[in-house]
Amino acid sequence: MTAIDPAVAELARWLEQARRIVVFTGAGISTESGIPDFRSPGGLWSRLRPVPFQEFLASEDARRAAWALTLSLHARLTSIEPNRGHRAVAELARRGRLTAVITQNIDGLHQRADPAQAVIELHGTSAYACCLDCGARYEIEPIRQVFETQGRVPYCTHCGGPVKAATISFGQAMPQAAMAAAERATRDADLFLVLGSSLVVHPAAGLVGLAKRAGARVVIVNREATDYDVIADLVIGGDIGAVLGAALAVD
Ligand code: NAD
Ligand code: ZN
Repeated sequence: MTAIDPAVAELARWLEQARRIVVFTGAGISTESGIPDFRSPGGLWSRLRPVPFQEFLASEDARRAAWALTLSLHARLTSIEPNRGHRAVAELARRGRLTAVITQNIDGLHQRADPAQAVIELHGTSAYACCLDCGARYEIEPIRQVFETQGRVPYCTHCGGPVKAATISFGQAMPQAAMAAAERATRDADLFLVLGSSLVVHPAAGLVGLAKRAGARVVIVNREATDYDVIADLVIGGDIGAVLGAALAVD
């Protein structure tokens, strides 16, 4: 992908013209940092199946499997960095055109690219854990120590409830405040930019249709086709870092 690619040039123009840009990201923006996306063969997520919420609640074995996955992801996150795609999104924020970054990712890489950036995390975060009954917050490292030395999964010291990473598992209710904020920003956007999502996970993917109905230009940058390509005003099938880096002249 080069700067003279006509689709990238079009994207650059639209980013220049837009005043209320909403960026919507999925696992694809983090693959260039070395985190496999959901469907990568042989990746972390295909070796360790995410544990659905009902299973987490139902059995200690499921909680142990979920914690093995959380701790493995968390360990990996300490050794990786935001990439050119995250830096390009941060550049849009610096230019004052970005009203929201809505992410399905739990990796915290947008915030690490620009700590001042307000990020709406639709699927929560792996940065810490919470008691499912009373909401008390727990840090990951002490949980790791007990898990690795004694094989024990964490329970709340206040109420005894199960403690889980603050991510939204399959089957778990969406965070209402985050979803409402995402919908508000989407309705108000004049450009809705999708970066690296297969757009199959709902209700998050429904924001694309909402943006279109509310009159925004919709742009999708993704390596493979999505069901929403037909309603998009521009679809670019390249790597996010190269495409957005070229469009915004960010290395
Ligand atoms: P997904 O894996 O379903 O889709 C990612 C898409 O990005 C794919 O279509 C792929 O072709 C594309 N892609 C991958 N690398 C790319 C690149 N460098 N440039 C352009 N396109 C690229 O991800 P999703 O839509 O976010 O849904 C998966 C669910 O799993 C989400 O709910 C998310 O919370 C979770 N998840 C999060 C992470 C993370 O936090 N980094 C990682 C894996 C999964
Ligand atoms: Zn509790």
